[in-house]
Amino acid sequence: TYTYNENQKLFKKALNLIPTGVYGHLGPAEGCFIPVQSYPFFSSRAKGAYFWDVDGNRFIDYMCAYGPNVLGYNDEDVDMAVAEQMKLGNCTTAPSSIMVDFAELLVDTVEMADWAFFAKNGGDVTSFALMIAKAATGRKKTILVNGGYHGVAPWTQKLGYPGICKEDVVNNIYVDWNNYEQVEKIVKENPNDIACFMATPYHHPVFTDNELPEKDYWQKIRKLCTDYGIVLAIDDVRCGFRLDMKGSDHYFGFKADLMCFCKALGNGYNFSALCGTDALKDAVSSVMYTGSYWLSAVPFAAGIACIKKLKKLDGPKLMQDKGKKLTDGLVEIGKSYGFNLKVTGVPSMWYMRITNDDSLTLHQEWVSECVRRGAFFANHHNLFINCALSDEDIKLTHEIADESFKVVKNNHKEI
Ligand code: PMP
Repeated sequence: TYTYNENQKLFKKALNLIPTGVYGHLGPAEGCFIPVQSYPFFSSRAKGAYFWDVDGNRFIDYMCAYGPNVLGYNDEDVDMAVAEQMKLGNCTTAPSSIMVDFAELLVDTVEMADWAFFAKNGGDVTSFALMIAKAATGRKKTILVNGGYHGVAPWTQKLGYPGICKEDVVNNIYVDWNNYEQVEKIVKENPNDIACFMATPYHHPVFTDNELPEKDYWQKIRKLCTDYGIVLAIDDVRCGFRLDMKGSDHYFGFKADLMCFCKALGNGYNFSALCGTDALKDAVSSVMYTGSYWLSAVPFAAGIACIKKLKKLDGPKLMQDKGKKLTDGLVEIGKSYGFNLKVTGVPSMWYMRITNDDSLTLHQEWVSECVRRGAFFANHHNLFINCALSDEDIKLTHEIADESFKVVKNNHKEI
């Protein structure tokens, strides 16, 4: 199995230079929850479905940089478009005309979109969605789902977290996923206070089985929002273009007022987008919101190549099929050793956990063994498929999973 000497040496150095060494979701603790002895802290390069760490270990990467790797790392078509645009310019005083080309493509692609607005990170556009909802309605409060993730802006965090004060979160009202009655009750009790309902298209929290919307959930929420003048904002940052090129609201049969996109937009080139309906265009225009790099040209070139290629490949279906093949195999292999591997969410972005023990430690042990053999999974976060993942990669992953189940079984004869 793999060794991580260079990774650990570099991590020690990083700890002196950068608080926590590797922070946030790319670090071992907050994102992947992978035991540090198995964690490849730093990558040296990436291609297709793989990345290599600084020890030269190769991983079949099921985290896909937490989503942005959708076509495969260093996709040739995307990188060629990027190289062309680099020659022309990137961060310029007047934005490049390519911004308008990308807006046209996105508005043509996303069913609900009448316009598109660009920023850099997912959190930029989830925060903007709330500002627009407040500007449009003159109201203050937002209904959010317990366990949902919308970034790291103070309003997304919880009272009691370091750096967060009461005023940051005072306008949030939390409900449970799939509980329409709770939402209805809150809306009816505060008919003139709720500016926005924001949620992901299906529920993909960490540490918990992922859940699809119940039948008619979104249709009922849509009607409630329309009836009470509430802006329905969907955070498609994580599942955007892994379910449906027309948007995940389209996939689940409803129409959002605002849609936040980021991760799969440009195959790793950095930008995010907010799409919306004409009814909110004036509100958007009224809000001051911008950033130094938000209109840079290179990511738009990547975005055009990426979205066109995803459409040509029927990326969402391709990734769903690959994910199904992979996860069906993993479940079966687990069963042959007496492990019950539960898979939830959608196959292109599945969540999995071994349910034989409540403590999650069996799952962590198994994931650790898989990582040390070259299949990079996270323990308690959903995983991601990319279009470059081959049948060979899936076969190799099944072999790694088999070997890893065998090791865990040997350590736990009681199973
Ligand atoms: N919303 C969702 C659903 C996300 O998954 C993420 C990123 N993990 C964000 C918002 C925030 O995006 P970013 O980290 O790019 O700000």
